Amino acid sequence: MILDGKKIAAEIRGELRTEIDAIKASGQRVPKLAIVIVGHNPASETYVNNKLKACAEVGIEAVKIAYETEITEQTLLSEVHRLNNDGTIDGFIVQLPLPDHINETRILSAIDYRKDVDGLTPENVGRTVQGLPSIISATPRGIRELLARYQIQTEGRHVVVIGRSNIVGKPIAMLLMQRPYLSLPGMSAASLGDATVTICHSKTQDLGAICRTADIIIVAAGSPGLLTADMVKEGVVVIDVGINRVDGHLVGDVDFDNVAPKAAYITPVPGGVGPMTIVSLLQNTLQAALNR
Ligand code: NDP
Repeated sequence: MILDGKKIAAEIRGELRTEIDAIKASGQRVPKLAIVIVGHNPASETYVNNKLKACAEVGIEAVKIAYETEITEQTLLSEVHRLNNDGTIDGFIVQLPLPDHINETRILSAIDYRKDVDGLTPENVGRTVQGLPSIISATPRGIRELLARYQIQTEGRHVVVIGRSNIVGKPIAMLLMQRPYLSLPGMSAASLGDATVTICHSKTQDLGAICRTADIIIVAAGSPGLLTADMVKEGVVVIDVGINRVDGHLVGDVDFDNVAPKAAYITPVPGGVGPMTIVSLLQNTLQAALNR
């Protein structure tokens, strides 16, 4: 069965639209998101435009703040402080990657965690680890929501995560191993968490043997065709986070054609995790607005 992220994301956008319409009807201000982009990375520009479009669709007010590549770290930090203190902005993101002369960690750490709708500040990550109310980064939130909407239970199951990045691998592993007390506004009630999680990376030995013991595999490596049919058991659930451009086509990290026949559930690329990531940013923005 295909885990249709595109369809689920559309459903969630409909729910958000209803909620934001109600906020508007009650005379309150609609949630407002600011997106800071530095330079002209084509992929980043596409992502930012998609985010702006998604905001417009659900009624979130969004502003794009664009800087040239040459901006200094100090000026960008000042912009972050300005947005932290701007009472009309509920949440903001600084689109990554930043140019080499700017220290990403320093910029992300300066964002007020209550407005950090990308969920990437050390404070939000730390709060997530401790099971405190936090804003969860968009891709892990989207994966969790997708599993929940398809009523795929994680309790007691062996989840293998391939990839240990701060934006995908580490946080999704953390969420799925937690006791399921991390309730999120607007998130379905299915029991999520309580899994036994193994995190793999490029130094992992015999990845295939580990994956064959998995009930659920989440691949976020950026390596096309990494997960092959001989690495999975029958009935596995496969979440493919990878986005790779091969011969002009977007492909994931999974050899979809050969893995899909063995899988109980699998996400396509495109149309799986990608749309869920964008809609999660919208959910996080509404959450930040409601928390104020
Ligand atoms: P990173 O490059 O930050 O991390 C990749 C991770 O995968 C690293 O931990 C790396 O190991 C591991 N890895 C790479 N190759 C292998 C391999 N052959 N075997 C085992 N582990 C491997 O990537 P991101 O987490 O940022 O992104 C991963 C992929 O997901 C990319 O394709 C990206 O475009 C996509 N992505 C998609 C999103 C979506 O919305 N669908 C959102 C975010 C990312 P090591 O640490 O040892 O180097």
